[in-house]
Amino acid sequence: MATGKINVSVDNIFPLIKKFLYSDHEIFLRELISNATDATLKLRHITSIGEAKVEYGNPIIEVKVDKKGKKLHLIDQGIGMTEEEVKKYINEVAFSGAEEFLNKYEDGAKETGIIGHFGLGFYSAFMVAKKVEIITKSYKDEPAVHWSCDGSPKFSIKEGKKTDRGTEIILHIADDSTEFLEDNRISELLRKYNKFMPIPIKFGTKTETLPKPEGAKEEDPAPTQEVDNIVNNPSPAWTKQPSDLKDGDYSGFYRELYPMQFEEPLFHIHLNVDYPFNLTGILYFPKLTNDLNIQKDRIQLYQNQVFVTDNVEGIVPEFLTMLRGVIDSPDIPLNVSRSYLQADGAVKKISSYITRKVADKLNSLFKNNREDFEKKWNDIKIVIEYGMLSEEKFFEKADKFALYPTVDGSYFTFEELQEKTKATQTDKDDKLVVLYASDKEAQHSYIEAAKAKGYEVLLMDSPIIGHLMQKLETSKEKLSFVRVDADHIDNLIKKEDTQISKLSDEEKEKLKANLEEVIENKSYTVQLEAMDSDASPFIITEPEFMRRMKEMQQTGGGGMFGMGGMPEMYNLIVNTNHELVGEILNTKTAKKRERLINQSIDLARLSKGLLKGEELTNFIKRSYEMVK
Ligand code: ADP
Repeated sequence: MATGKINVSVDNIFPLIKKFLYSDHEIFLRELISNATDATLKLRHITSIGEAKVEYGNPIIEVKVDKKGKKLHLIDQGIGMTEEEVKKYINEVAFSGAEEFLNKYEDGAKETGIIGHFGLGFYSAFMVAKKVEIITKSYKDEPAVHWSCDGSPKFSIKEGKKTDRGTEIILHIADDSTEFLEDNRISELLRKYNKFMPIPIKFGTKTETLPKPEGAKEEDPAPTQEVDNIVNNPSPAWTKQPSDLKDGDYSGFYRELYPMQFEEPLFHIHLNVDYPFNLTGILYFPKLTNDLNIQKDRIQLYQNQVFVTDNVEGIVPEFLTMLRGVIDSPDIPLNVSRSYLQADGAVKKISSYITRKVADKLNSLFKNNREDFEKKWNDIKIVIEYGMLSEEKFFEKADKFALYPTVDGSYFTFEELQEKTKATQTDKDDKLVVLYASDKEAQHSYIEAAKAKGYEVLLMDSPIIGHLMQKLETSKEKLSFVRVDADHIDNLIKKEDTQISKLSDEEKEKLKANLEEVIENKSYTVQLEAMDSDASPFIITEPEFMRRMKEMQQTGGGGMFGMGGMPEMYNLIVNTNHELVGEILNTKTAKKRERLINQSIDLARLSKGLLKGEELTNFIKRSYEMVK
């Protein structure tokens, strides 16, 4: 037996390992299973090229809990190590890796966001164990080796008794880490980190029911047998070629990823590149709601089938973090902070590749099955609209397939909309006026007024739509979006024949004075207009600009306007050609006139949804009095 001292500059690195990585002790299991996997894959490689004259077989990795002995065993059937290799790879290589990692971790990288502490490797075992043993036998014809280390830099090494190929790591679990002796805890970790690792992982056994032998009676129990409980799926869908998968495989994999999710995804995107970086994965578009935040962080990041994190911020463009699925790339640096990650060239390329693939997929869905795309639009629009706002490249592509639904359920692309409306819906500066509503019910009377004139009215109800309209207005020439209740329809859209007012200038002045005398609310501006005599006598409108600013403040991007709290501003448009307006003007008694004005304005406010609370109660009371 030989003993030695690991050559380290820090005298005792183990307390450091514990201290620095206090929050993520659980990753030790992932690291050790990764090593076992690597050892097995190496064996597969060298047997396949004929370098090792041994049978590869069907190797598995076994995790065993010995609760009584307070030990955790990890057993693989991989290439194993000779004594020389243990000395080199464990005492020197692994250790220098650990030391280097800690140095890096110590200077500055302590900010949160180091992805999963990758790179610590074998020595992460000391986060949970007070003593670690390695019993290993190489595929080469050499005796087994038994290495042991109690958490100080001293180790011992002697010949081992192991006769079969592979490595067994024994962790003597420390008193503060006994949670890792619980079956449930280990199962949870295996599910979290190892669910899709490429070598089968056994944890315990399970009872399997066999088919009944021929001639068995109804009441005979079916025979059973104990079989290995394999906890992972070594060949998940994303590692396969898209051409080898059917739709059912994709939805099956979705359920594997999100067992608690009962709703089917709308569609998927299979990512598969190996140059200039390596990336595989499957992204799913789930049905999305308008709440941007609760839907984030469902994409899982893997590296060679090892789970790393479900926070893909900085790797996947922000607007796509609402999607679900898996991405797997060995080219994403993991032991770095998020801010470094975002500046990394490979990561930038990956991010724009993903954006492009998503745009291409959407485009092909749009082209190949427009009807279906339209049906799904409402469930996916939030991602597309958000993407158009935040990524210029995506905007350029999405502009071709982004849809603008009308209140009547037709869908136009922007180009189609332009084509359809350019002859009829322009203002006096020849700008295209895109009329829209945000709420079909609340803006019903305004929508009807616009439709009566033959105009198209869009239904734009996403929370960020104000920002998107702004973006479209600046990126396209001569375009303005106007909500149907922003002004009287004839003011919004240029009209050839302007109506002549039935009232003289004098009468108009008098009317205005009368109205302003009665209206106490200072946020209304009275505006007299000569309109068709059958148009409403009073209409309340809310200027587009003010309203949009107010809304955009509520949905982010508000910083631009500082204080917040935009004032309410409305126009009261009075149709001077309407009979009722004439009647108000000609009413002799001030009291009756006041009553007519109040009642009319309340009706206009009711139509705009502005009459509420006490005012509404009073209005209703007054109306009953009048019909009595
Ligand atoms: P890394 O895996 O990043 O190289 P580790 O510290 O985890 O670093 O391991 C150091 C080396 O020890 C590995 O590269 C490998 O050569 C060897 N090793 C670790 N675990 C095993 C194992 N289960 N079987 C064979 N070799 C192993």
